[in-house]
Amino acid sequence: MMSARDLREFDAHHLWHPFTQAQTAAAPILIKEAAGAWLSAADGIKYLDLISSWWVNLHGHAHPKIAHAIAEQAAKLEQVIFAGFTHEPAIELARRILAQLPASLARLFYSDNGSTAVEVALKIAFQFWRNSGEAGRKRFIAFEGGYHGDTIGAMSAGRTSGFYFPFEDLMFDVDIVPFPATWDGDENVEAREAETLASLDRLLQNARSYAAAIIEPLVQGAGGMRMCRPQFLSAMAKRLRSANVPLIFDEVMTGFGRTGALFACIKSGVEPDILCCAKGITGGFLPLAATITTERIYQAFLGNGIENAFLHGHSYTANPLGCAAGLASLDIFESEDVLSRIAGIEQVHRAHVSAMAKQGEIQRVRILGSIAAFDFAEGSAYGSGLSQILRDLALKEGLVLRPLGSTLYIMPPYCITDAELGAAYTGIRRILSQLR
Ligand SMILES: *Cc1c(COP(=O)(O)O)cnc(C)c1O
Repeated sequence: MMSARDLREFDAHHLWHPFTQAQTAAAPILIKEAAGAWLSAADGIKYLDLISSWWVNLHGHAHPKIAHAIAEQAAKLEQVIFAGFTHEPAIELARRILAQLPASLARLFYSDNGSTAVEVALKIAFQFWRNSGEAGRKRFIAFEGGYHGDTIGAMSAGRTSGFYFPFEDLMFDVDIVPFPATWDGDENVEAREAETLASLDRLLQNARSYAAAIIEPLVQGAGGMRMCRPQFLSAMAKRLRSANVPLIFDEVMTGFGRTGALFACIKSGVEPDILCCAKGITGGFLPLAATITTERIYQAFLGNGIENAFLHGHSYTANPLGCAAGLASLDIFESEDVLSRIAGIEQVHRAHVSAMAKQGEIQRVRILGSIAAFDFAEGSAYGSGLSQILRDLALKEGLVLRPLGSTLYIMPPYCITDAELGAAYTGIRRILSQLR
């Protein structure tokens, strides 16, 4: 076994970390184990994971029920090709997820991560029209500040997120409409929504050039935890429906309880034609994703030849271990009444954040389910000086935080206790006072 020192050294010389400027970044922290909301580093320091390890972990790290379900499944069937074959964990997980969604969403396609779930949605929408004799529908509508993942199609839909300037020449054209972001006490939200709906109306005068529209419902994640009202989603969906342009909900982040309901489409009461989920689907244990659509869209892929079929798939499609983890996670939602716990987290968020807002420490408060977000400075960019300083100060407090530009957000695993969350807010207030 390599010593912690050797491990760090090998990492420094041979590994390449995501979204990191290695020349200036501090060495990554070597994590040895984790339990509940806590990460334990090799040097003995413990960190409270307030970002659910990039928004994937739901019920706490190394939750024994999920660990056990994966081990049991691994000893039985670890993987099988999903073309020409099927298996119970994939069927059962699809059945359980579809049972939670509006009845119109009735077909589920598995893939591996959020980017592929989005890529699949875009490709399904595109080919749907081609198969339906409307090959001219090639364009997509997306929202300012949206983030949909890092593959080329997902980047194109998320081109305004600010992450992709080196790749602009690779992306396809997407029509962008403003996102009517809102916050507590916002008085101009209706005007902003009207502006967005008007620009949508302008695009929809050429409705027959669009394959689909894509949005992160209720919360834009990486774009800065920007929230919109359900009323807006519903007005937008109505326009798209009457123009016959399919609506894609990217629920990669909002799925599996983040907004307080199992999915944002349930929370908002708005039904999409295609829904993407990933991050929380396995409780944060294994990569897995699903793109879910209507029977109407599925039917357009049927025919006598291969040319109408959806020619897309990944080696690990519907991996049985991921599906077993997903089933165990859904069991925990029921046996531990997790949605009630999320309502409790929302209350704790609200109490602490409104106290901070009242003191004038922060601006633009938005809270929904397990997510709390606010601005701690005016307009600083992702990875900029101030957000890096905040991240480092947080680590010194034993807190894992990753500001998005000038937005600080807290998105903990649902197992976090009121006491842990309260202590986290005390630390956050100390950090913010150091920044001033
Ligand atoms: C994270 C994220 C993605 C991309 O998911 P990956 O698993 O990182 O590929 C797509 N859409 C949204 C809304 C996300 O938050």
